[in-house]
Amino acid sequence: MSVSAVGSFWLSPSPGKLPRPRMVVRSSAVSVAPILTHLQKQCATPLPVLRHVADAMAADMRAGLAVDGGSDLKMILSYVDTFPTGNEKGLFYALDLGGTNFRVLRVQLGGKDERVIATEFEQVTIPQELMFGTSEELFDFIACGLANFAKKEGGKFHLPSGRKREIGFTFSFPVKQTSIDSGILMKWTKGFAVSGTAGRDVVACLNEAMERQGLDMQVSALVNDTVGTLAGARYWDDDVMVAVILGTGTNACYVERTDVIPKLQGQMSSSGRTIISTEWGAFSNGLPLTEFDRDMDAASINPGEQIFEKTISGMYLGEIVRRVLLKMAEAGALFGEYVSEKLSTPFILRTPDICAMQQDNSDHLDAVGAILYDVAGVKSDLSVRKMVVEVCDTIVKRGGRLAGAGIVGILQKMEEDSKDLIFGKRTVVAMDGGLYENYPQYRRYLKEAVTELLGLEMSKNVVIEHSKDGSGIGAALLAASNSKY
Ligand code: ADP
Ligand code: MG
Repeated sequence: MSVSAVGSFWLSPSPGKLPRPRMVVRSSAVSVAPILTHLQKQCATPLPVLRHVADAMAADMRAGLAVDGGSDLKMILSYVDTFPTGNEKGLFYALDLGGTNFRVLRVQLGGKDERVIATEFEQVTIPQELMFGTSEELFDFIACGLANFAKKEGGKFHLPSGRKREIGFTFSFPVKQTSIDSGILMKWTKGFAVSGTAGRDVVACLNEAMERQGLDMQVSALVNDTVGTLAGARYWDDDVMVAVILGTGTNACYVERTDVIPKLQGQMSSSGRTIISTEWGAFSNGLPLTEFDRDMDAASINPGEQIFEKTISGMYLGEIVRRVLLKMAEAGALFGEYVSEKLSTPFILRTPDICAMQQDNSDHLDAVGAILYDVAGVKSDLSVRKMVVEVCDTIVKRGGRLAGAGIVGILQKMEEDSKDLIFGKRTVVAMDGGLYENYPQYRRYLKEAVTELLGLEMSKNVVIEHSKDGSGIGAALLAASNSKY
């Protein structure tokens, strides 16, 4: 998935020009009520809006499958066309570079009966300076972390003699995949600005770094996190057809029939199927957007791009809420006479903060008050806190429901090509990512939208399931099923 850099938003407004913050407690919930009402109206996602989004998602998918560049959705070929069968045996590694951390994992697979015998993993934080350094420095750091982890192998983990350790490499940045084990980095995202990688094969970059470290391992599969999640979930359940990541950014992938992918020009896989990474974060058709979304987009590193991602994913929900609260503070004196400097600071209110505020069940909304004070530097009374929670709910409801409509769009596209094979039987959508995992209201809104769109009967066949950390094991499984041995 691709998301833009946080740093680029630090353009406006200039905090220096604002009045010094002073804490004036005065409830102004009444005067901001019209702003809330207007926001709720603009963010509303009644059934016709959801239906339009689902239909447009399906149509954009088709256009992206027809020809490269045919749609907002890139519909990237993953080169994953066989799934782990359960028969995989042996020791495999996974390396996941997705955001601020990278994770290394090893798994000992025991085949049909024993399945996963043992797993171990480690997480390493990437030092800030490496996100702005050279490609060699970053990949050396990763290879070094991998080497240290590999040294600790023992116990239940065994490599048969005469074999190299094989790695499934999960790399969640936009890659033009060239085969199952190679792909060119199109551009860094998510705050990374590493020089010398764009335009290069990231597997070659890793191989060269491993050589410099004297580490004799081999990348057998390069995948993104959605593909890893799909493979990991499907190892346990044959009905998994779609995987969705809702974390810092968002993306979705699914199992497609090769005969309905015109841009393949007749290249068929032996299985007749392949996984397509939709790159749905770039979707933009018919979304209910507000002035707050447009302003946030205009201030971003990638204006006009990744609009669906900016409306539904974790990096942005808190920032949209902050922009609404700022307007309420400026136009309606929500927090009294002055606007705090903190509240004027882009990205200071994070999605985990608005999530925590929505979990507050206390009579006086004490946690909401504390977060507003600590994070935004404002005091609030109960009526103001209620107003703030309403704003959070409005933005999160829109995000969750639109994500649900997107999922239905994918299922609808699959059903159109394969009558009754999606809605006529059990179909599983594997979900992962910090936003989905941690935000109960978001999850509920997402599922409600799916049920509204499909109706009670049909939605019984669609199982939306959290697949925790499936992507790491999934990548290792793909290394196993694409083993060089
Ligand atoms: P990534 O997408 O970078 O691989 P994750 O899947 O772990 O990482 O997702 C991290 C994102 O999840 C954060 O950026 C944040 O938006 C969201 N998130 C994390 N914790 C919470 C929380 N408690 N409540 C709501 N959202 C959360
Ligand atoms: Mg991730």
